[in-house]
Amino acid sequence: MNYFSSDFKLGILGGGQLDKMLLNETRKFDIQTYVIDPSAEAPSKIACNKFFQGDLMDFDTVYNFGKQVDVLTFEIENVNVDALEKLEREGVKVYPSSKNLRTIQNKATQKLFYLDHNLPTSTFSRFAYASEIEDAIANGGLKCPFVWKSTQFGYDGTGVKIVRSLQDLEHLPKGECIAEELVDFKTELAVIVARNTSGEVKTYPVVEMEFHPEANQVEYVICPARLPEAIAKKAQDVALAVSKAYNHVGLLAVELFLTKDDKILINEVAPRPHNSGHQTIEASYTSQFEQHLRAILNLPLGETKSKLGGIMVNLVGAENYTGDVIYENIEAIMKMEGVTPHIYGKKQTRPFRKMGHVTIVNENLNTAREVAEKVKNTIRVIS
Ligand code: ADP
Repeated sequence: MNYFSSDFKLGILGGGQLDKMLLNETRKFDIQTYVIDPSAEAPSKIACNKFFQGDLMDFDTVYNFGKQVDVLTFEIENVNVDALEKLEREGVKVYPSSKNLRTIQNKATQKLFYLDHNLPTSTFSRFAYASEIEDAIANGGLKCPFVWKSTQFGYDGTGVKIVRSLQDLEHLPKGECIAEELVDFKTELAVIVARNTSGEVKTYPVVEMEFHPEANQVEYVICPARLPEAIAKKAQDVALAVSKAYNHVGLLAVELFLTKDDKILINEVAPRPHNSGHQTIEASYTSQFEQHLRAILNLPLGETKSKLGGIMVNLVGAENYTGDVIYENIEAIMKMEGVTPHIYGKKQTRPFRKMGHVTIVNENLNTAREVAEKVKNTIRVIS
């Protein structure tokens, strides 16, 4: 199929920052795009060929949108899967597939998938209602501490809570959930795997999330992870096994825990470009966004090697500021070596809202890490 400078149409569900970065690549290749998002102010509105406003969970909206395009992909998991299934039956190519999305959308079915495929993950129990957790604790079937997770609609940790005592259960949403073993991890890792419809597969280097020592928040994504070769290889092998089990098309970001005794456990996956791959834009031969496009269009996959060491810092809204956004000291960070800010285009900041990110590249990863800390201490997202 001729995708380039032609009538071919790629449809994308979701018009947020991931889509905005994907659209840099469709523009690079001159591929036509249709985008749909619930917000009239969606960040990617300015970069697509045609923009539609609509509810991504609504069957008719997704179905009618999908009927107009040749290949359909998404930047967000919360979309109407029944509509995707019907579109697939009627010949629209949907990548990643509705089948995989259905498994991944629900954290319980996702975890069960790993059990069924003998893939390493932490132990867990599934509850139809949060109230059943209290019964399980009362009859000794479940012990604190554990990690409560809503099976659906969580993002950036909103559907996750460490439960250390019964009190922590108060105010939790009532719906379906899982209780996971609390993993005593050394660090969190991620590996992005790309696969096209012909079955060509490539993995990006393992990245490491460095946490703030007190706030328990990821501060830096570091590529490559500072790990012994053998452990990095083990993480990549697990990610490849996950990718094989799903038989997925497109990108699959595999989030992993490295335990204190050097075991690799799967936390969860995202079937799309991912926060842990943003540094690939500046640091890799092929960015994750270009790679996603190559994979879903069955083009040859690009080289996944890094050109330089890369570190990513998320730009989130500072506490106590809500309103029209100001990026304080952005010029100061732009004077620093190897620093590129990405501004997602959200006009309003709120505490902890993801507003952008900054990539720091350097031939020497330790130097990049020093610059990253300066960036973190200099720029502020306020109003
Ligand atoms: P989300 O889908 O909102 O990103 P995750 O399932 O990735 O939620 O969990 C968010 C964070 O919570 C993880 O990055 C990790 O730091 C912590 N976490 C999740 N599951 C566990 C677990 N079983 N044990 C310890 N920490 C966990």
